[in-house]
Amino acid sequence: MKKMNVESFNLDHTKVMAPFVRLAGTKVGVHGDEIYKYDIRFKQPNKEHMKMPSLHSLEHLMAENIRNHTEQVVDISPMGCQTGFYLSVINLENYDEILEILEKTLQDVLEATEVPACNEVQCGWAASHSLEGAKEIAIEMLSKKEEWRQIYKEEA
Ligand SMILES: [Zn+2]
Repeated sequence: MKKMNVESFNLDHTKVMAPFVRLAGTKVGVHGDEIYKYDIRFKQPNKEHMKMPSLHSLEHLMAENIRNHTEQVVDISPMGCQTGFYLSVINLENYDEILEILEKTLQDVLEATEVPACNEVQCGWAASHSLEGAKEIAIEMLSKKEEWRQIYKEEA
């Protein structure tokens, strides 16, 4: 296959095994600051996906809560294929720390009593939310925590 500009377009999605947390890219700025981009894959590509209202609420909950655990988040955003999120952090290269932050953030989702900013002033599609759906995704992801480090299927 032709090498593409987008890192994940060069990833063979048939060879991965979700859930996982994968370093997808690194950028170093002119002053030496480092941006790390992670592929946080919740669902097996082309087999499962998150429903839009659940994914949307999970996005709001993670975006708001992850920043209570670190000030190094640049962005956390859902993938259009609805199978995962991208997390970008600055000057935070410790993979174990990323997993800890993700775990704490998903615990926050379980404890949430409402979705932050799900109104027409603060969100672009306030009607499309599901707190219960977001919690279901978080519960499943946390139950498979031991698998997060394994990115590829075992070769037979
Ligand atoms: Zn929104």
